[in-house]
Amino acid sequence: MIDELPLRTWLAVAIAVATAIVVFLLSHDGQAGLAALAGAAALVVIIATTPEDDGADDTAPSAPPSDLPPDAVVEAIAEPVLVLRGGRVALANAPARKLLGDHILGEDARVAIRHPGAAEHLSAGAAEPVDLVGIGTLDQRWQMHTAAIGEDARLVQLVDRTGQHAAEKMRVDFVANASHELRTPLASILGYVETLADEAGDDPGIRKRFLGIVFDEARRMERLVEDLMSLSRIEAEKFRELRAAVDIGELAQEVCDTLSTTHGDRGADIRLDLGEAVPQVTGDPVQLSQLLHNLIGNAMKYGRADTPVEVSLLPQAQNVVLRVVDHGDGIPPEHLPRLTERFYRVDPGRSRSVGGTGLGLAIVKHIVERHRGRLDIASAVGVGTRVTVTLPASKPLS
Ligand code: ADP
Repeated sequence: MIDELPLRTWLAVAIAVATAIVVFLLSHDGQAGLAALAGAAALVVIIATTPEDDGADDTAPSAPPSDLPPDAVVEAIAEPVLVLRGGRVALANAPARKLLGDHILGEDARVAIRHPGAAEHLSAGAAEPVDLVGIGTLDQRWQMHTAAIGEDARLVQLVDRTGQHAAEKMRVDFVANASHELRTPLASILGYVETLADEAGDDPGIRKRFLGIVFDEARRMERLVEDLMSLSRIEAEKFRELRAAVDIGELAQEVCDTLSTTHGDRGADIRLDLGEAVPQVTGDPVQLSQLLHNLIGNAMKYGRADTPVEVSLLPQAQNVVLRVVDHGDGIPPEHLPRLTERFYRVDPGRSRSVGGTGLGLAIVKHIVERHRGRLDIASAVGVGTRVTVTLPASKPLS
């Protein structure tokens, strides 16, 4: 028992006894000594019964201060939150008031939320979350969570699921589009092979023509599969750190040389302007080469025959600026914001006839983002298109 008394208590007892002795010796008055001893003993009792604070758990987690008003906690939550008492809105934080209106305080929650799904859920007192569409704006999606927080009180939280739903829709659309893009050439190949297997295959002229079509369609499928694989590789490498210093000038020269030798007469239209001392960029050489291929390839495909495809690479401040300019039909302004979406084409027939997959600019966008760059597409109908990619130089220019 004595062992259990803290050191602090023993110290207080020692001080109290010493004080009483000193008072007795100085005053030679037994009563004063006894009074001092009684006062000191009272002090000992107070010290001994005060909870010890040794400072060791200053940083330990503690319960929220009991004087913290609950509305301050609710107000600090970023998602819309309501506290209901007897089914009426007793508390609504700012996001809830913004979503449902300032008037909801005191209203029946089913009226305040104004959604049949929410009303049914609240009336049933269901515990599991419910998905709600159309609170706020028509396309907003919410998940409503409710929890009992007392005798007659409930907490209602609305979690915004709009972004998650859009991402899921994008994924579903992408799979549907990719399947459709692959099925079209496949159906064509199967049709022509079937016809060739019949008597049409006996005619050498027809056979040659049909085999040519089968070859073109198979190439189209191959390009599409290559682009799909590139896209998924680029997405998979999104968070991998870029380390290599890439001589983008040399890369542009290589790509232009390749395209000018593999694209017949159109290849001769490429003009490359490499500025003085183009700095290196920190990046992925394979991806940067693909970016150059896709942009210069588009300018060759969509520019008018016999007009130049101007490619320039110039240092600018702490950046390297790539410009690819063509003199083609251009792109109407309403299409510009959507060009980097997967499978978005201004003119699908034209894109397919020139071997497009609809994925080239989506791939470019991902590569630019991974290199922390910027992509700008400017176009004038009947005049042509200018694509500008700004990439940070790997070393500050002197
Ligand atoms: P595609 O494989 O169809 O060329 P992209 O993703 O590279 O796909 O481009 C998307 C669409 O943007 C193209 O289908 C085309 O309509 C348009 N486009 C891209 N580049 C140009 C350009 N230089 N001039 C005109 N239209 C272009």
